[in-house]
Amino acid sequence: MTPIARYVKLNGSMVGPHDPLSRDDVPPRPMEPIRKNAVTTEAAERIKQMILERRLSPGSQLPPERELSEMLGISRSSAREAIRALTHMNILESRHGQGTYVTSLSPQMLIQPLRFVMAIDEELIYPLFELRKIMETGAAALAASRITPEQLDQLQDHYDRLVEEIDNPPLFLEHDIAMHETIFDAAGNVLLLNLHESVFELLRESRNKTGAIAEIRARTIIDHGEILKALQARDPERSSAAVMAHLDHVESRLRELGGPQMTPSVQQLDTDHNGK
Ligand SMILES: [Zn+2]
Repeated sequence: MTPIARYVKLNGSMVGPHDPLSRDDVPPRPMEPIRKNAVTTEAAERIKQMILERRLSPGSQLPPERELSEMLGISRSSAREAIRALTHMNILESRHGQGTYVTSLSPQMLIQPLRFVMAIDEELIYPLFELRKIMETGAAALAASRITPEQLDQLQDHYDRLVEEIDNPPLFLEHDIAMHETIFDAAGNVLLLNLHESVFELLRESRNKTGAIAEIRARTIIDHGEILKALQARDPERSSAAVMAHLDHVESRLRELGGPQMTPSVQQLDTDHNGK
């Protein structure tokens, strides 16, 4: 599956009516909104399905509202709501006077809504650290017993590059992220992997902040060295503790520096650099 298709699918399943984790399972709400919401969600789901099945391709025009509502067997207002929801996710766009189109579906386009969430609430970075600690310490413990020799080699390679690229934040970040991803792969739990992928773009936003801080990069090299050694020793407890220590270090340094508001992002550093 392409990253785009996977993204659409993941986002779909987060709001989809058949997802066991979806909000539709929460019982006590007034009758009318649930029903209407469910119809809208289902309609949005079907439009996404048409995109996944390539019946609608990037850049193509959606049928007019009336036709679409007949195709989907829903009211025009539900069709309009579904279009609105997908527009907020940058999957569809309304062109004034021309109708509704599927966007380019480029990854940059699709992650905009998540970036927006992070931009309006930078304090989300702290619950995000909590979430990472829960997911990544567990992943590291599983990985310690399941990691393959090839994956250990990959970790070592990324670690070597991490050390080399300490003064190059964008490249440093790529290898930092690659190490964390290898650990999720090595954990060998498909649900954990999916969970991680669904928050990945939010994590990237947070890393763009922390990766811009030279001190955090230096600390990360020490921490990742510990994580690598613990996994090489195939020690679940030590691996888990090393990941926890790493995330604690990054988070507390960020807090000491005044939080994400006071910190430039890696892209900003990059732009400044290019400008000189
Ligand atoms: Zn890291």
